[in-house]
Amino acid sequence: MVPWVRNFFSGFTTVPAASVTPIADEAAAPERHETMPATATIQTQNLGYPRIGANRELKRALEAFWQGRSSEDQLHAEAKRLRAVHWQKQREAGIDLIPSNDFSCYDHVLDTIALVGAVPARFDANSGHVDTATYFKMARGGGGSCGHAPALEMTKWFDTNYHYLVPELHPGMEFRVASTKPFDEFAEALALGLRTKPVLLGPVTFLLLGKAREADGFDPLSLLDALVPVYLEVLHRLARQGAEWVQLDEPAFALDLTLAQRTALVGAYRQMASTVPQLKLMVATYFGGLGENLTAFTSLPVAGLHVDATRSAAELDHLLAHFPGHPMLSLGVVDGRNVWRNNFTRSLAHLQRAAGRIGAERLMVAPSCSLLHSPVSLKHEKNFDAELKSWLAFADEKVAEVVQLARLAGQAGDAGALAANQCANEARRKSARIHNPAVQRRLAEVRPADYERRASFATRKQKQQARLNLPLLPTTTIGSFPQTHDVRSARARVKKGDLSAAGYEAFLQVQVKRCIEFQEDVGLDVLVHGEFERNDMVEYFGENLAGFAFSENGWVQSYGSRCVKPPMIFGDVSRPAPITVESARYAQSLTRKPIKGMLTGPVTLLEWSFVRDDQPRAITAQQIALALRDEACDLEAAGLAVIQIDEPALREGLPLRRAEWASYLGWAVNAFRLSAAGVRDDTQIHTHMCYAEFNDIIEAVAALDADVISLEASRSAMDLLDAFVGYRYPADVGPGVWDIHSPRVPSAEEMAALLRKALTVLSPEQIWVNPDCGLKTRNWSEVAPALENLVAATRHVRVALNLEPHATA
Ligand code: GLN
Ligand code: ZN
Repeated sequence: MVPWVRNFFSGFTTVPAASVTPIADEAAAPERHETMPATATIQTQNLGYPRIGANRELKRALEAFWQGRSSEDQLHAEAKRLRAVHWQKQREAGIDLIPSNDFSCYDHVLDTIALVGAVPARFDANSGHVDTATYFKMARGGGGSCGHAPALEMTKWFDTNYHYLVPELHPGMEFRVASTKPFDEFAEALALGLRTKPVLLGPVTFLLLGKAREADGFDPLSLLDALVPVYLEVLHRLARQGAEWVQLDEPAFALDLTLAQRTALVGAYRQMASTVPQLKLMVATYFGGLGENLTAFTSLPVAGLHVDATRSAAELDHLLAHFPGHPMLSLGVVDGRNVWRNNFTRSLAHLQRAAGRIGAERLMVAPSCSLLHSPVSLKHEKNFDAELKSWLAFADEKVAEVVQLARLAGQAGDAGALAANQCANEARRKSARIHNPAVQRRLAEVRPADYERRASFATRKQKQQARLNLPLLPTTTIGSFPQTHDVRSARARVKKGDLSAAGYEAFLQVQVKRCIEFQEDVGLDVLVHGEFERNDMVEYFGENLAGFAFSENGWVQSYGSRCVKPPMIFGDVSRPAPITVESARYAQSLTRKPIKGMLTGPVTLLEWSFVRDDQPRAITAQQIALALRDEACDLEAAGLAVIQIDEPALREGLPLRRAEWASYLGWAVNAFRLSAAGVRDDTQIHTHMCYAEFNDIIEAVAALDADVISLEASRSAMDLLDAFVGYRYPADVGPGVWDIHSPRVPSAEEMAALLRKALTVLSPEQIWVNPDCGLKTRNWSEVAPALENLVAATRHVRVALNLEPHATA
């Protein structure tokens, strides 16, 4: 540990790990079998299957519909076809409880908003039923009676990269059944001969994910009494249709809950289980252990309880010791959040322990969570070699693993499957492709001083200013410039072989040159090369680092029709050769103004990839940091005086439970520091993050020890500045003055107003002027006037501050 960690985190109070309330003994299950019976049938279930389709068919269908190229009937027909394919695959694999209503045309939280009639008034949905048009208006914005109604807000689903639409809640809100989706899909499967297990987002998690619009201090759970009757109606109706099991997802159990929230959870399920006793309710929690919520969880009077055994293995014995005498236990032993082949030996040990405790007939095998977060199938991967492929499992392979594990745990399995699994895991463990002794040696040699810039920020700032000679309120951008059709098609042509590497290089140089001329004309102070060579800030670096692999078709839904194809970090990470140095050197050769080199930070590379499961994430982050450190030093040696290391994912990596924040922030901040601290004092390190809420981690952000940080701020009209009121941020800050997520070009006056607002909490010597984020999704027709306005606004404010003579404005 480096010294700052101790200083910085000494203020945190940590909660003891094992502070679980003891459970009354009579609630615990009687010990069943000391050993397993000769053979037993262990049931299997799936919690959810990817919706997007093996070839992103849903994406295409949605986009065709939105663009008016297909009808609503065509969209629904394609969705129906996909559901049938997904059910059939799971049936063929041998899953006992196959989910329905896990499919969605956009998002399952939005489906729940529609189901319970929680449609905000601006969408004019007064009729009894939420139709397709209203559904997509909530997702994407659209006309209401008083003009354009903004879409619901979107935010990350727990600690995943999936985004859900945020329910808008207000006091006195009323609910009613306003969609028939779960009933229709149950009937649809029944017609195919399948009695599925409908999946509903549980009422408590639904409310806790909501945002209270009107009243401060309003407790969303005060709406539970109004909401539960709607769930009762839904459950009754599913029971009448012939459902046997219904899955209610309550991942809120993985969060820090108050006593009142736990009580509300138990109360709601007591009511649901007793009112619809003919249905078997399966309450599922995932993404983390139960911790202090364990007693509440095990006291739910339901027919089945599902836990994420990949994230709470340490808690399993405790759970088993206190598991009640009646319900089924579904053990999520197959990781739904990662791409690695299961370790059968480890999973079987968990399953056998559970079966020995509660009886095999009360056990179910499952993935840890919905397979929504996993790519669909390895079948479509043609580029992977046999070795790499043998280490992986996507959704279809995970479904097969669940079934194999149940058979093996019931002693009815195929010994060959076990041997093949053990063999693959053993080969992976020993593979020379994974272990790079040079990387490990270097890691072992890292010293505390490697995390420290040589001088303090104050000294560095002086040296940097002497070198850069920047005006007050320096202007810059976040890195990328428009990825036009030309840029994307040039990249596609190289991939296809229609454009030579040299031709592509020449094309890129033209783009960089134009971009720099443009920035000089506009009058920006610190320039960038424009990132034209990057399709994606993570993919680009991953492709140039050893230890990363890329799938052809490993798409995972991010939101609506949007998918991402995360790289897979399978081995020790190293940098075979400099990555950005030549393009940066070229860019710098074109101008006397400083060029800002542009790197993606270690935490973001980690967060937006599938990471290896055979070593702690902290170690992987350190390896990436060392590779980036070399890149930063090489940029410096190439003559760059400014280097930005982007960390937009730093905050979203925060663990779900507060008690784990300090440890995460400790290694994440260290990884950033390791990547940045190799450069000289007069080299200026920037970082960038795009979120507005960071009050709760501002000390960790300061501990990054970056010389300048740019942040997204304009959308919330500088709300983020609140963080700087009570805390004197030690370095320079560029609060974004232009919301690049919107096509609207802000005026110079607007941006000047935002700057003046920033000046009320930050000192003029501390402020940089920049957009909220990169400009890759914008058009030049927006970028040109917006950056002209940004420079004009800055000059105006400088004049007002008497910092610059009028003549230059
Ligand atoms: N440098 C990146 C860009 O400008 C940063 C993107 C991000 O913050 N997500 O595109
Ligand atoms: Zn950003």
